[in-house]
Amino acid sequence: ETPVVLVTGGAGYIGSHAVLALQDAGFPVVVFDNLSTGIRSAVPDGVPLIEGDIADTEHVAEVIRGFQVGAIMHFAGSIVVSESVEKPLKYYRNNTQNSLGLIETCVRLGVKHFIFSSTAAVYGEPEAYPIDEESPTRPINPYGQSKLMTEHMLRDASAAHGLNTGILRYFNVAGADPAGRAGQNTPAATHLIKVAVQAALGLRPAISVFGTDYDTPDGTCIRDYIHVSDLADAHVLALRHLVGKGGNLLVNCAYGRGFSVREVLKAVEKVIGRPLPVDDAPRRAGDPPALVAKADRIHGLLGWKPAHGSLEEMVETALAWERRSAEESKARRAS
Ligand code: UDP
Repeated sequence: ETPVVLVTGGAGYIGSHAVLALQDAGFPVVVFDNLSTGIRSAVPDGVPLIEGDIADTEHVAEVIRGFQVGAIMHFAGSIVVSESVEKPLKYYRNNTQNSLGLIETCVRLGVKHFIFSSTAAVYGEPEAYPIDEESPTRPINPYGQSKLMTEHMLRDASAAHGLNTGILRYFNVAGADPAGRAGQNTPAATHLIKVAVQAALGLRPAISVFGTDYDTPDGTCIRDYIHVSDLADAHVLALRHLVGKGGNLLVNCAYGRGFSVREVLKAVEKVIGRPLPVDDAPRRAGDPPALVAKADRIHGLLGWKPAHGSLEEMVETALAWERRSAEESKARRAS
């Protein structure tokens, strides 16, 4: 069985990489995206892009019927933690309420498989490391809460209606497609590796290190960075698992090892061959000192074999993408 996969948010960063991985694996794909942060050119030629809002459940239903969709990968949503503190209701609407509508539509139309983009933010500030999937879920911001509520809806809908569900909790996603077909397009992205390669290319004056007095070996925060193409492959494996075995899947998506902010910046300097302009800055509100996963389950259950796990490759692919995007926008301005 090779179901047609509807990818919500397929014009965004992680969604566009998942579309490539699905295509490479031979799954027919349809993208549904309102292009609020995603971009049209991120959708490969030959993949239908339906411009629409998942809040419009009738539109979603029409697409599911029209393309005989058998599986959903649900990436569409809002993802900026600080914004979620200022505009919590936007997060409960875009992430929780719109997911509810989508889940209802899938149950109503008999879509069998639902794969959901969740986040390590559901764990909040963990008491024990590394973080496994049974760790307590106590989000410390509306973003994490809005995603956790969707996890609960999926679990209950699965028990009551037989929906097969895959919940993927992402740690820190970075890098770009090694073949250069996709990358992180969001101009306002605040992610460390993205910001660091922008500073390396002179697109920003400097990079700030948010907090140098944490209780970590070098005083800066530690995160478990995962290459976006390995994460995309995990989605394909999760889908195959649901198609073959059914049931529910809950997995951390990470490599199970962490790098500090200083280590990341050092890797960027090594790749570009010169020092970066770095400022030490105060801590950013709500940043836990370390977030490192226990990643045994995803390996064991899915046979996942990450192929791009070195920090250098994450930096190199992010840099290559950023460089090309900068050149393209320069060429556009000149013409
Ligand atoms: N960070 C930083 N400077 C930046 C962006 C991020 O020092 O310009 C730090 C941030 O405080 C955190 C780590 O890098 O400790 C990863 O942050 P990011 O925003 O990439 O992801 P998060 O872990 O917040 O999801």
